[in-house]
Parts: sequence; C-alpha cells; structure tokens
Amino acid sequence: MPDHIIAKQHGGKTRADNLALACARCNLHKGPNIAGVDPQTAKLTRLFNPRTDRWTDHFRWRKARLVGPSAIGRTTVVVLAINHPYRVALREMMLATDE
Ligand SMILES: [Zn+2]
Repeated sequence: MPDHIIAKQHGGKTRADNLALACARCNLHKGPNIAGVDPQTAKLTRLFNPRTDRWTDHFRWRKARLVGPSAIGRTTVVVLAINHPYRVALREMMLATDE
C-alpha cells in the first residue's frame, strides 16, 4: 500500500515524490514518524527515505535480520520493527525453503 514518507501531519504532500510502497506491517509501525532514536548512539535520527536515500548505504542483511551500518538504517529498523521476532522467524522459514 502507498504510504506517506513525510506524514500529512508533518506537512507531507500526497504526491509521488512523497509516497512509497510499504507492507501493512511496516506502515503500521511507521505511523506518522519521520525520525527515531538510534539504538547505538541514542541520538535523534531521521528515518530512511526510499525516494532520496540509497538502500545499500543504510542496510545489510545478516541472514534473516536486517542491520543498519548507518544511524539512519539502525533507527529505521527499530521504528518499523523490522527485526520483530515474528518477522525474523518468518524470514528464517522462507530462507530455509529456498535451498
Ligand atoms: Zn514491510
């Protein structure tokens, strides 16, 4: 489903350059958030913007877990609950059936 990158609540427009496809679960966790706290430095950090940031600069797969080499990546993983145990378990099952 299309999601606002900058939420309407924060002045984000419903235009292609402010919309991104997101699964329902990520969308639910993101809510109106545009930032979060980097778990490594405790600093306020903006979220990954799929329209302007390069995915490979901010994320790496470590088996079924997504890790952030950057503050933006780490913060986005936390805010969107990308490594929630349920989601990691689901990925592990998908990786296992892929072999
Ligand atoms: Zn998702």
